[in-house]
Amino acid sequence: MKRTKEITIIHYRRRRVRKSRTAATECCPVCGSGSEMITVSAAAELTGVSRSTLYSWISRHQVHATRPDHGQLHVCRRSLLVRVAQGISEIP
Ligand SMILES: [Zn+2]
Repeated sequence: MKRTKEITIIHYRRRRVRKSRTAATECCPVCGSGSEMITVSAAAELTGVSRSTLYSWISRHQVHATRPDHGQLHVCRRSLLVRVAQGISEIP
């Protein structure tokens, strides 16, 4: 009598997710997306837009921003990139 064994191998692959040092949270509370929240300095560096322009966009609600625990202002990376895609020429 021939005996067979069935062996099931389950391989879980661990993914390393690098966190940005400038990221505060992983979710925008305004749009509810999983967008990374970044500091204004990081947003300026990422987009090449001046901080004053970023504050202008934030005040006009063109870019999502929060101030967690009354600390440093954080910007929704997704809304920021959408705003930049609309064109920097629209800066007032
Ligand atoms: Zn957002």
